[in-house]
Amino acid sequence: MKVVLLGPPGAGKGTQAGRLADSLGVTNAASGDLLREHQRKGTELGKLARPYMERGVLVPDDVTIPMVTDWISAPEQSKGFVLDGFPRNIAQAEAFDAELADKGGIDHVLCINVSEEELLRRLSGRWLCRNCQSAYHEEFSPPQKAEECDRCGGKLYQRDDDRPEAVKTRIEVYLNETEPLIGYYSDASILRKIDGEAPIDEVARALMAAVRI
Ligand code: AMP
Repeated sequence: MKVVLLGPPGAGKGTQAGRLADSLGVTNAASGDLLREHQRKGTELGKLARPYMERGVLVPDDVTIPMVTDWISAPEQSKGFVLDGFPRNIAQAEAFDAELADKGGIDHVLCINVSEEELLRRLSGRWLCRNCQSAYHEEFSPPQKAEECDRCGGKLYQRDDDRPEAVKTRIEVYLNETEPLIGYYSDASILRKIDGEAPIDEVARALMAAVRI
């Protein structure tokens, strides 16, 4: 089962990718997390990506495409995967299709829809776990102890690119570069749209129902 989650920043892709992957018994990854991991380790790839990520624009395709194709080719992903944040433009989608051509292609692309107003509310005030990437919100879903993850006890942090200027750029980049993928995957008849403003459990159920069809 190979699933891609599409949707603007703040739609809940990270939260839902983990839950969906657990339900399906496959692994999950977010291209943004893979890039942030490179930055933490101080790799060349991480250094190259940093200025793009700080501004909220896309890291060049010749960096992201090999990074993600390496990840999907690893043995851990042999049963399938849930991928969040990739592909992010038509060139990445075409490269991904070529890569998966002899593995049966993508089974489902699920697009999580959330209004711009709600995205802005969610991203300002978002806290993430450094260890397990769980997401919290200081107003809507605060952790039990300040700055500590309820699930694993990891330290919570706020992403640099959740600053208002970078958020605005990230939403514009989504509309200009990523939203065209909705047409691309509709044409391939593998796209389903999910209401991302419903409660978390309801969104999770809708995603699970969509992959069972
Ligand atoms: P995310 O964690 O998905 O919000 O991604 C954070 C940042 O990582 C984005 O604003 C981009 O700079 C970069 N990024 C993540 N995924 C991709 C991708 N597929 N292509 C290009 N840049 C990406």
